[in-house]
Amino acid sequence: EIHLNLNVRGLGQSATLVINERSAALAAQGRHVYRFGLGQSPFPVPGPVEAELKANAHQKDYLPVEGLRNLREAVAEYHRRSQGVELSAEDVLIGPGSKELMFILQLVYYGDLVIPTPSWVSYAPQAHIIGRQIRWVQTRYENDWRLLPEELEKLCAEDPSRPRILILNYPNNPTGESYTADELRGLARVARKYRVVLLSDEIYSELHHRGQHVSVARFYPEGTIISSGLSKWCGAGGWRLGTFAFPRGLHWLLEAMAVVASETYTSTSSPIQYAAVRAFQGGLEIEQYLQQSRRVLQALGRYCWRRLDQAGLSTPRPVGGFYLFPDFSPQRERLVARGIHTAPALCNRLLQETGVALLPGSAFGRPEAELSARLAYVDFDGARVLTAASAEPAGK
Ligand code: PLP
Repeated sequence: EIHLNLNVRGLGQSATLVINERSAALAAQGRHVYRFGLGQSPFPVPGPVEAELKANAHQKDYLPVEGLRNLREAVAEYHRRSQGVELSAEDVLIGPGSKELMFILQLVYYGDLVIPTPSWVSYAPQAHIIGRQIRWVQTRYENDWRLLPEELEKLCAEDPSRPRILILNYPNNPTGESYTADELRGLARVARKYRVVLLSDEIYSELHHRGQHVSVARFYPEGTIISSGLSKWCGAGGWRLGTFAFPRGLHWLLEAMAVVASETYTSTSSPIQYAAVRAFQGGLEIEQYLQQSRRVLQALGRYCWRRLDQAGLSTPRPVGGFYLFPDFSPQRERLVARGIHTAPALCNRLLQETGVALLPGSAFGRPEAELSARLAYVDFDGARVLTAASAEPAGK
């Protein structure tokens, strides 16, 4: 007999992990698999950060639930340096991945959760696990999958005094798109008017291909929580370290989250936190590493985009991160003739027939019939490519 909480009944494992397992199974049969499914950084951890982890392997004590003081200070200083937002160590919460922090935020917050689609695969399942309803906002391909201020205004005006959190993720997973400063100003204006809390998921901020990330916290500092971590720009997803930075007026959320953290994961791995101080402090070596990563991703993103465009698929040009979100609808007739009516069917057939692993758009909150999919252009030896890139003259 199975006794499961109703909220988790029927929930499968994260779509990303499933495609990874299927790809691994095919590879085990000797098939070549193009691993464009899993969104994992292809690059190694920067040398100085890895060295710091080794030097701190002996750190074995529990750390404060909110995080190591020096790390909280380094994260606050990082946001001050990169975005000019006024934050101090007390405003920062460290967790074992930003994913875990988001889950706890969803758990402690009372109010609506607004998610634009396409959106990262885990926001919605986290809400389901907790039994929380989601207010979806469907963005459009014609707007490069960006949320428009008027769309947010329309939603908020339905019930102006309702408490809400809006998740904004840029550079975006799965679309590779981001927002300009003006667009963020427009969204900030509406958010301020309706006192919407913004969870600004900036985990890809350092992977803006041109390095010009602008945070919405610049325009709405009092209502923005900035989410970041080591997973993407530092190539350290498996280390598990995420950070949230809160404005003063939202410390009640930080405190409630710390209570839940203290009763669940206790604190984030100690050696990882010591190493993360080095990452957030930055410096020349890390800046060079990031510049090379951006150059490689920009070249790959452009190349893949061009190939998709030539194949007649609708795909906005990527500006950051390592994803593209092609819409196969222009090829719908040909696909339907082959019995392919949905995005999951499309991805299954692609994997079986060509060895290309993509994730269906439906995993990102899009309708199954849309025939959209995410391509993560990370199937290459990042360490080798970075070494080659750094041997080339700069500025090429
Ligand atoms: N947010 C987005 C948009 C992501 O793509 C990911 C990882 O795939 C995360 C958050 C979670 O990152 P972390 O490793 O910090 O939990």
